[in-house]
Amino acid sequence: METQWWNLKAPELRDLAKKGAVVIIPVASTEQHGPHLPTQVDCLLVGEIARRTAEQASNSVPAIVTPVVWTGLAEHHMSLGATISLDFDAFFTVLRGICTSLTRHGFRKILLLNGHGGNIAALTVIVNELAPALDAPIATTTYWLLAQPAFAKILEKQANVRHACEAETSMVLALKPELVDMSQATNAVGPTAPELATVIGTAAAHRWQSFRVRTSHGAIGDPRAASAEKGERLLAAAADAVAALITKNEFWNAPA
Ligand SMILES: [Zn+2]
Repeated sequence: METQWWNLKAPELRDLAKKGAVVIIPVASTEQHGPHLPTQVDCLLVGEIARRTAEQASNSVPAIVTPVVWTGLAEHHMSLGATISLDFDAFFTVLRGICTSLTRHGFRKILLLNGHGGNIAALTVIVNELAPALDAPIATTTYWLLAQPAFAKILEKQANVRHACEAETSMVLALKPELVDMSQATNAVGPTAPELATVIGTAAAHRWQSFRVRTSHGAIGDPRAASAEKGERLLAAAADAVAALITKNEFWNAPA
């Protein structure tokens, strides 16, 4: 079954709405990814995971994928260059417009599938605003948080996705190796300074910080340990985890 919104025609999408299809909106960011990876990393990865998820899930429930939301909240990357960011109001307005369009066409089960750390807090707030306002079970997840147990078994140098790291570099190597400069991986090992939680002795307080405070080159993690083979396993594990979530009836039908 065709799963890409952009490849489908209006009568097919009207039919999919009637059948109760799940709509996945991949939400990403365009930002610096150190000296060895291109700025498209978050868009590439979450777009591919969304595509694989929809294909897998379609065995039990119709699922389709909108085009990737390519810019999000990345102010913390701005001082390292290469980054395009929205502010919260603009981000919320874009996602509200997309979700409102979908619900007006009869789609109800909507997943904002996130692929960028800086979007996590905002997406929780946005879903809490939009679900009651649009009276639909609008949900969000971040793929590496959902797939954490599987990712921990695949990765050797880190417990989960960090930034321009073993995990992200592996997945880009699996999909677009021509865009990776592994000769620069030795210059992208970090963090180069401790996190705020370590400095103040608690993770229970939050303060905004530029990424630059923690990493002079823009990467956090160890891309030297990356491989295409690991990347393929990570992508498959992520799609498995998201497909398991969206094919669970209770996820959509539990009382709101
Ligand atoms: Zn990102």
